[in-house]
Amino acid sequence: MMAFLSLLARNRLAIVGLFVLSFVILLSLLTPFLNLSDPDITNTAERFNMPFSSNAILGTDHLGRDLFSRLLWGTRLSLAVGFLAAVIAAVCGAAIGILAGYYGGNTDNILMRGVDMLMAFPYILLALAIVAALGPGLMNALIAVAVVNIPFFARNIRGVTVGIVHREFVDAAKLSGMSNVRIILTEVLPTVIPVIVIAMSTTVGWMILETAGLSFLGLGSQPHRADLGSMLGEARAALITNPHTSIIPGLMILVIVVSINLLGDGIRDALDPRLKSGALSRPMSKTKVVASKTNQINKENYLLQIRGLKTEFQVKDRTYDAVRGVDLSIKQGECLGLIGESGSGKSVTALSIMGLVASPPGVITGGSVYFKDYDLVQAPYDVLRKLRGNRISYIFQDPLSTLHPLYTIGQQLIEAIQVHQSISREGARARALNLLQNVQIPNAEERLNAYPHELSGGMRQRVCIAMALVNDPELIIADEPTTALDVTVQSQILNLLDDLRRERGLSILFITHDFGVVSQLCDRVAVMYAGEIVEEGATETILKNPLHPYTSRLMACVPKGSAGQKSLETIPGLPPSLDKIPSGCAFAPRCKSASKACRSTEINLIATAKDTHVRCIALEHANLEMTS
Ligand code: ADP
Ligand code: MG
Repeated sequence: MMAFLSLLARNRLAIVGLFVLSFVILLSLLTPFLNLSDPDITNTAERFNMPFSSNAILGTDHLGRDLFSRLLWGTRLSLAVGFLAAVIAAVCGAAIGILAGYYGGNTDNILMRGVDMLMAFPYILLALAIVAALGPGLMNALIAVAVVNIPFFARNIRGVTVGIVHREFVDAAKLSGMSNVRIILTEVLPTVIPVIVIAMSTTVGWMILETAGLSFLGLGSQPHRADLGSMLGEARAALITNPHTSIIPGLMILVIVVSINLLGDGIRDALDPRLKSGALSRPMSKTKVVASKTNQINKENYLLQIRGLKTEFQVKDRTYDAVRGVDLSIKQGECLGLIGESGSGKSVTALSIMGLVASPPGVITGGSVYFKDYDLVQAPYDVLRKLRGNRISYIFQDPLSTLHPLYTIGQQLIEAIQVHQSISREGARARALNLLQNVQIPNAEERLNAYPHELSGGMRQRVCIAMALVNDPELIIADEPTTALDVTVQSQILNLLDDLRRERGLSILFITHDFGVVSQLCDRVAVMYAGEIVEEGATETILKNPLHPYTSRLMACVPKGSAGQKSLETIPGLPPSLDKIPSGCAFAPRCKSASKACRSTEINLIATAKDTHVRCIALEHANLEMTS
């Protein structure tokens, strides 16, 4: 709750809305105690007095009634009816939605077809029909407005409910023997309440307008009782001659609706913080780059050479340095492992290569990424688009979320082929079939027509590998492709990648957090910590003799096959927060051998042996001692 309030407080417009709305609500709550003149007493001698001209502050209307008093009483009524209608619509709609979504099948059909029937009429016509059937009156207007808004809530909530009833926590609740009612109340309802609140906060204003609309037409509040809509309706005849009688209730409606909407937007943003970090804003087609051109060229015939790459996330007033000057290089046919704890910046590094980090909030602020002799950081979008999935392709961790759930494997492979090659559908299909065989999928012919959910995890990841291979890439970037798989399947997938690499001369950037995987597949390995490479070199050398304390601690976390192994190590402490990275060595707070110098001086990556680099000063001294 506090977190919600503090998030809400950051949104200035929402605070303005909250302030204005609270004021209006307070005013309408206090109306009976304000000693106002009776809103319904007519005095035709004082018709159409202008505001501030007599003892009625806001003037009088066509019957000489005190407008200020009528305005406050009317606001009170309009607010009450609008909120009540919103609550009724939300409760009924949510109940229908949850029941339909939870029970599915016939229940779903009957409830939702009922809702569809409500939706089959034009909205305002339905409200008019309901009021016509029930007879005019404020209560009936309230019912009409509530009823026409039920479908909106029912449909929204049903969608959300369907999305969660098959989730594991609901299954777990069923397994624990809970009754359906209890599951709905304790598991489903709390998950959908934010959606209900969001839907309500964005529709209350709308419902106040609708009630006012019905009253304006004479179907809502009946004379002599005023609500804002009926005040507008009665003032219509004098709109030109005495505009203040319309403007006053009109302004009040405007103020109420605008403040509710501002507050509603604020509540929505605060309940769903993803919206602020850019989930709603359309990401740019490539990551924003503010790095200046570097003139260094690719010297040693590397396929990919990353130099000083810096990527950060700019969220509101904070900057998260996810990648802080990374150097990596991959030769033709080589497999480079990139290893580090979760959150160390591996994925962001990999995505930066092809400008795939979402902007906003991601920005590449420095460095270069040479693919052969071409700097991808400075490349225009068109060039990147031609390379993506063509000469450089990606494999991600979770194949289920990478594959589109509504298309068959075959359709997706064929599409991937046809994006980059002008080839007939039959040709593409034959190629897709061939690829599935290459990645050792049994019954490849049948599998082409299967949907992703019909395959096992390992099978799906093979499909993703096939997808990455469709256009004969030179470089594959595999981001933890085996993390979601069990150990035997993981080993098969690694073997497959290894075979493919040797057959096709592929280069692979293989991201993982597991040294076991690195030893099975990678020629060289780079260890990443808090956005920096801390050690880099041939896999064998590093496995045999890790120099950086972080590397050795990471290696101690890998279970070894031998029996009677002592308990697994963990690394004490947590990686630093990326918006407050300590000066000096980022690992120092967790390092046993950290000295004072480690925490203050800038530490560089130094060469130790051939092609091996390490970023640690404790070692620098050790080396000096050795050489002296
Ligand atoms: P990993 O090494 O586990 O792949 P990532 O590269 O995904 O780690 O993330 C590196 C850091 O960047 C993480 O600490 C993460 O919190 C941060 N990060 C990633 N995406 C965003 C984002 N959209 N906004 C803010 N920070 C982000
Ligand atoms: Mg990652």
